[in-house]
Amino acid sequence: MSEDAAQYAVTPVTDPDAPLDVAAIRAQFPILERQVHGKPLVYFDTAASAQRPRAVIEAVSGFYETKNANIHRGVHLLSQEATDAYEGARTRIAKFINAPSRDELVFTRGTTESINLVAQAYLRPKLGPGDEIVVSRMEHHSNIVPWQMLCEQTGATLKVIPITDTGELDLDALDDLLTPNVKLLGIVHVSNALGTVNPVAEICALARERGIPVLVDGAQAAPHQRVDVQAIGCDFYCFSAHKMYGPTGIGALWAPMATLEAMEPYQGGGEMIRKVSFEGTEYAPPPGKFEAGTPNIAGAVGFGAAVDWLEGLGLDRVAAYEARLLAAGTEKLLTVPGLRIVGTAKRKAGVISFTLDGIHPHDIGTIIDHYGVAIRTGHHCAMPAIAHFNLPATARASLGVYNTVEEFDVLVDALNGVREMFG
Ligand code: PMP
Repeated sequence: MSEDAAQYAVTPVTDPDAPLDVAAIRAQFPILERQVHGKPLVYFDTAASAQRPRAVIEAVSGFYETKNANIHRGVHLLSQEATDAYEGARTRIAKFINAPSRDELVFTRGTTESINLVAQAYLRPKLGPGDEIVVSRMEHHSNIVPWQMLCEQTGATLKVIPITDTGELDLDALDDLLTPNVKLLGIVHVSNALGTVNPVAEICALARERGIPVLVDGAQAAPHQRVDVQAIGCDFYCFSAHKMYGPTGIGALWAPMATLEAMEPYQGGGEMIRKVSFEGTEYAPPPGKFEAGTPNIAGAVGFGAAVDWLEGLGLDRVAAYEARLLAAGTEKLLTVPGLRIVGTAKRKAGVISFTLDGIHPHDIGTIIDHYGVAIRTGHHCAMPAIAHFNLPATARASLGVYNTVEEFDVLVDALNGVREMFG
């Protein structure tokens, strides 16, 4: 753990069984002190973007205040310190997901860019007419649209794993879809729209038997449970710092070194080269080969502080706390007349999508904002998943480690208020 993280750690990680001190966690989030429409903020929109603890805010501002300079190749002290901060963050983030090597961790703008990178730099050169890519119906648009674009560019076909009415993958259909034509399977670890936790290790094992590489979209998993890319057995893992209590505009792609080495560069420019001449250019080895241009240096530093902070809490304790919160919150929400939960998988993470009979989700969201409650309404960038339930939209309460059972009481009150307004 970095010094910054140690300063803010709530309970020593050496005691993994101690429950989280949520009041102490909340005290680390300055934004939770503010009011919204004169009411205390109840933030149930962590799946869209988490709030940031002081450890992250101060890591970013501290970087700008004391170390700011461009990285790599600088001979002056600030540049060396900035490089150490950037590369140090890479080392800790790689460790966070149990990557075998820090050089396998490529910084990107986030999950979306990581997936586009794999589509263009890994798969595009291998793909042609007759080839197939498989994704599921519960994917975020960022794990659909890059593949659709790639299919248009190459003549390949996108196939879709159906989902059940509980919001789980139809695993028999998946089995049938994984034919020799499939060149990549893209699957979400935890659905941002339904909360479903997919059995990614089993899916990767099945795909591996058939020689099919798997990309896992880990945007909603990395903040909420321990992620071990080696145990999952995937070929690509993508995640975003801003869902993990870190800054926006930074995220990562993990892939094994041999895969990264065999891939084409994604973008050309400075930083990604070893030698440039008009006769030809030699690329830098990974991860530099995929990080053209000046990167989001302060973002990486903040990302490193965010994973330190999460490690300080202990991912297993975070997962256990959020599971209890999800169960208690679900029970409370079901007391609201006419409330229906969309996505009732056996294994769920902290996302509760719901509808209220006869009331449009946007009205729900707008009204409860005046109770200080922030939820998200709409299709959650997963239109096909929501359309499966014959709905244009849902309301979604999503959890972070700072939420409490009492906040669900505020949400339930607010929803009962909505009910009354609509008679
Ligand atoms: N996948 C999932 C499951 C997500 O929840 C999100 C963000 N809502 C993304 C991908 C895209 O992440 P980003 O916008 O950070 O690139």
